Amino acid sequence: MASHIVGYPRMGPKRELKFALESFWDGKSCAEDLQKVATDLRSSIWKQMSEAGIKYIPSNTFSFYDQVLDTTAMLGAVPERYSWTGGEIGLSTYFSMARGNATVPAMEMTKWFDTNYHFIVPELGPSTKFTYASHKAISEYKEAKALGIDTVPVLIGPVSYLLLSKPAKGVDKSFALISLLGSILPIYKEVVTELKAAGASWIQFDEPTLVKDLDAHELAAFSSAYAELESAFSGLNVLVETYFADIPAESYKTLTSLSGVTAYGFDLIRGAKTLDLIRSSFPSGKYLFAGVVDGRNIWADDLAASLSTLQSLEDVAGKDKLVVSTSCSLMHTAVDLVNETKLDDEIKSWLAFAAQKVVEVNALAKALAGHKDEAYFAANATAQASRRSSPRVTNEEVQKAAAALRGSDHRRATNVSTRLDAQQKKLNLPVLPTTTIGSFPQTVELRRVRREYKAKKISEEEYIAAIKEEISKVVKIQEELDIDVLVHGEPERNDMVEYFGEQLSGFAFTANGWVQSYGSRCVKPPIIYGDVSRPNPMTVFWSKTAQSMTSRPMKGMLTGPVTILNWSFVRNDQPRFETCYQIALAIKKEVEDLEAAGIQVIQIDEAALREGLPLRKSEHAFYLDWAVHSFRITNCGVQDTTQIHTHMCYSNFNDIIHSIIDMDADVITIENSRSDEKLLSVFREGVKYGAGIGPGVYDIHSPRIPSTEEIADRINKMLAVLDTNILWVNPDCGLKTRKYTEVKPALTNMVSATKLIRTQL
Ligand code: GLN
Ligand code: ZN
Repeated sequence: MASHIVGYPRMGPKRELKFALESFWDGKSCAEDLQKVATDLRSSIWKQMSEAGIKYIPSNTFSFYDQVLDTTAMLGAVPERYSWTGGEIGLSTYFSMARGNATVPAMEMTKWFDTNYHFIVPELGPSTKFTYASHKAISEYKEAKALGIDTVPVLIGPVSYLLLSKPAKGVDKSFALISLLGSILPIYKEVVTELKAAGASWIQFDEPTLVKDLDAHELAAFSSAYAELESAFSGLNVLVETYFADIPAESYKTLTSLSGVTAYGFDLIRGAKTLDLIRSSFPSGKYLFAGVVDGRNIWADDLAASLSTLQSLEDVAGKDKLVVSTSCSLMHTAVDLVNETKLDDEIKSWLAFAAQKVVEVNALAKALAGHKDEAYFAANATAQASRRSSPRVTNEEVQKAAAALRGSDHRRATNVSTRLDAQQKKLNLPVLPTTTIGSFPQTVELRRVRREYKAKKISEEEYIAAIKEEISKVVKIQEELDIDVLVHGEPERNDMVEYFGEQLSGFAFTANGWVQSYGSRCVKPPIIYGDVSRPNPMTVFWSKTAQSMTSRPMKGMLTGPVTILNWSFVRNDQPRFETCYQIALAIKKEVEDLEAAGIQVIQIDEAALREGLPLRKSEHAFYLDWAVHSFRITNCGVQDTTQIHTHMCYSNFNDIIHSIIDMDADVITIENSRSDEKLLSVFREGVKYGAGIGPGVYDIHSPRIPSTEEIADRINKMLAVLDTNILWVNPDCGLKTRKYTEVKPALTNMVSATKLIRTQL
């Protein structure tokens, strides 16, 4: 019985690659230094898998930036603006595409399916010239081979590659990208032939788009692509790997009849229905790579349960054709539990990061082959049992309260226009009220204060005094700028999820549980291990303090339940919506305490609501229903006069606009400036929106200072589609990453533009 790993994190257990990349980009180290770090990381990963006993070890899953960009390099599909002149693509062209350079902007980046990983979107068109321009797959294969490790080279499959790309600038939006198959397949053939010549006996093609809703035309592209490649496949075993969701029945049929393909990989964590498909028919003589170990979470596998699933599949595929695998690449989970010194032993026993998952996969394969490591399985069973029964996990009161929410609706008693009237009487805001999204620049000094307080190097009094001073500075600046609804600037927060997680029960935090988000950027999601409750108010002290410094309304600032959920590692022993309802109840208490403390405007950020949207359309309605319901739960109990804001970092709402309206917030502020005003087109098309809305008037992700004219122009464009009395004026997002030298002039211009337009109304 064999074992396989779909892919492995490339950042290193202590983010070694991140630091090497950033130092290289800063010109502090040379290409050789960077290459050395990369080579060492690759070799340690391969050795680790090999020593664990993994049979099918992936190569070419390392990347300096992104595996889709690596494929673009392999195909030589460099957009013209990078003035690439041919030959093997080097680091400078590669990083220019990834990050832009002094004269040319970067290529677009977008989310990899429903993960928090972002890939670089290929820009293709009828005139794109493809040439074999990166031999990375071959060199990595050979590099491993030189270490005595025979690997399975991994390529992004040709059809997924095209389906993930977009028409280049100037190319008609309706251009059929899939029509480029004929141009890229010869290069794929060349790569396969070279890999074979170098000694490879297996090749893995990742075709995750197979789990999406595809039309007949797209499915046919899979059939014809692999039929075309078949001639290059002779003498090879070819694995087509899918992941992230159930595979639709039609796609399963297509996949299992692809020519030349000898093995199929499935995500059996998110694929309960896929399991039924496999059981009802699996082609004889083919390999089944069963992804039973979760690549997207940090929980130790329930080995007994996985073993029984695997045993039930032995009859389907045949004992010698069943391969134990991970549900997807392990790059979506944390790297190694060994480096966790902060977590206590009990919680640690419930977890498995990438390095531990490799061991789990192999233990399952050995058990299937009749060599079960009894002690290892017993320890795992004990940990599973302890997790199920631990009083730290279960809080019956919370469970009951959350269960009671299901099935009933939660809404504010009156409609939004009645509420806006009541709020306006109290708040008395000018037309086109100005505000910001929450955070103000986080200076080095501020970070130092927080760090020293955490390390107990300064006293609580000193800490409070320092934060108060920062808030008062931020309040003063906003008053001077003449902003209408103020924020306290979030100086006490390191991160919008972590800050709340640290004060809620049921959350744990890692020291090194980093997951790559894009390029060298990593995130460290909290772990939700138990029922969530709020022992004490979390933000009331700071909001009250800030409100006491001004007579203008001060926004209370909270992170919403869906965002907390989507940016955490979530427990897998209950449905996501149940955890979300629990968080919603905790935030609801906070909202009510803020209201009682005299805070009249409360913003509940749902920056990540959209990114939790399931891959398959058939599951959208259910998700949106509980996500939006969770949001409403947080504020359904406040008075009409309390104004509830929400904020979102996405502008492509066109498909979920009705859910956004159904959130029933009084005011929503949304990212808008980077999206060609896609957002406004919804309203242009006649969607009725009666609540307050503030589409961002300038991009905070750039240091550029927008001019008054430019902002005024933006506001006028919005006024053309939105009623004057519902429009708010604000930046795109929080100002945390900007400098005061950028923020002050930008906000000055924002307020001037608003005042100018007010005089013209
Ligand atoms: N209130 C948060 C801030 O201003 C919102 C951040 C976000 O939307 N990502 O920083
Ligand atoms: Zn935002």
